[in-house]
Amino acid sequence: MASEPIARMSTQLARLPGVGPKSAQRMAYHILQMPLDQARELASAIWDGRKSARLCSTCGDLTAADPCPICANPKRSRGLICVVRDPRDVSAIERMHSYEGLYHVLHGALSPMDGIGPGDIRIRELMERLTGEVEEVILATNPDVEGEATASYIARLIKPMGIKATRIARGLPVGSDLEYADEMTLSRAFEGRLEI
Ligand code: ZN
Repeated sequence: MASEPIARMSTQLARLPGVGPKSAQRMAYHILQMPLDQARELASAIWDGRKSARLCSTCGDLTAADPCPICANPKRSRGLICVVRDPRDVSAIERMHSYEGLYHVLHGALSPMDGIGPGDIRIRELMERLTGEVEEVILATNPDVEGEATASYIARLIKPMGIKATRIARGLPVGSDLEYADEMTLSRAFEGRLEI
């Protein structure tokens, strides 16, 4: 039987994605043998990070400040909005170091099977941002069934407004997650984007 601190820590760690009971226990043993200041730093990074995390009221990205650093950056092009499903996708695209526009995070994708409709993701918020400044909306939802459905739904809403709607190119493996694409593949998908 594991001791109480080990059991308590393992239970919490096993809640993290990709962490099974065995690795949770291994991590717990590791933490219990860490220098005290290292353990304190780990705990406060989690606590401080979580406590200050909020959604940017403009783009919906996870941030500690509202507006987020990307929305607040005057160097980012106001004419370009890249629509993604998750905050993790923003990080993936930022890793390319070549995209200079803004983002809009939907926090989900259309999925009639799961009962997720347009009112359940941040589509209305996107439409409210499409003022005269915006020239192009890049639909960078995942290349899976839900992502494609979401992209075409948004494109249909946007086109009558005279705003260009583009879809990132194929080349990302179908059914894959944007966040796991390497920078080269993602860069090529952006450069090869086509109007839809
Ligand atoms: Zn923002």
